[in-house]
Amino acid sequence: MATNKKMVMAGSGTEVKSWEVDIDVMTHAIRWVQEHPDLAQQEVEEMELHFPMFIATIASGNKAISCSRCGEILVWNDGIRCVACNKPFVPRMASQLCCIGQIPSIIGEVNTNGQFIRGKCRPFFRRIYPRIRKLPANERRYFFSVGPGGEAGENIIFYFSPVVYGIYPDNWNRDMPTILLEDEYFRLLGIPTEHVFPDHYAQGYKLCNYASWPRVTLRVTLQQRIVPRIIMDLMLADLQSVGRLHEALGNMGTNTHSVYNIIGRGGRQSRAFEREYNIHVKL
Ligand SMILES: [Zn+2]
Repeated sequence: MATNKKMVMAGSGTEVKSWEVDIDVMTHAIRWVQEHPDLAQQEVEEMELHFPMFIATIASGNKAISCSRCGEILVWNDGIRCVACNKPFVPRMASQLCCIGQIPSIIGEVNTNGQFIRGKCRPFFRRIYPRIRKLPANERRYFFSVGPGGEAGENIIFYFSPVVYGIYPDNWNRDMPTILLEDEYFRLLGIPTEHVFPDHYAQGYKLCNYASWPRVTLRVTLQQRIVPRIIMDLMLADLQSVGRLHEALGNMGTNTHSVYNIIGRGGRQSRAFEREYNIHVKL
């Protein structure tokens, strides 16, 4: 059995709540799970192992449904219920299986006086760090820090941790999952929303992931396409932060749209991008 977990408010503090993902209930709510419960089982088990910050939830029209009482995420826990207030949910229309979670990357390190540690801070981090505490809650949740103490040593390590939605199509896995990033992602990074497709109902941006779908799992899709994409976007945000994004891309004969076709493929153009990046960006 796969387990999901989430930090929830409890009294005046927080606690980690965990539960077994209820595949039986999923078979009643989602057609393809009824036909292929083994596929659903594999999906939630792989996600638990490789992306433990993700939670399986329910969506409709590519939009995650949240608790009508408190707005928190609905989970497959002994039925479908709110993770925070336990209010049960009964789906009334076609439902989709959806995984929501965050994918963290280290972006910088400061000492206890708040001074940047040389060689460990992305320009994006140097730019955003003074603003992190003042960000509205929906943007603030994209950042977390660890330390001082323990593995972090004497310093405080900061992570950029964007929220990612993976929504399974009705005919899984003959079609690819829809991967959505929120407006906040592009706003915080300060990069253009090119090469992504606005989904106005879901209030996010769809990523273009595969020209030809190899019928892999969501876990593999995230590892092959989304993790590299986030690293790439952090590099673009760094170039933007030092005011050299368009110059760097121009030197390579590309732009903010086509650059996504270059990176991650390796080869000469990929190395050219790394070279341009290293000329303009000093950590
Ligand atoms: Zn609730």
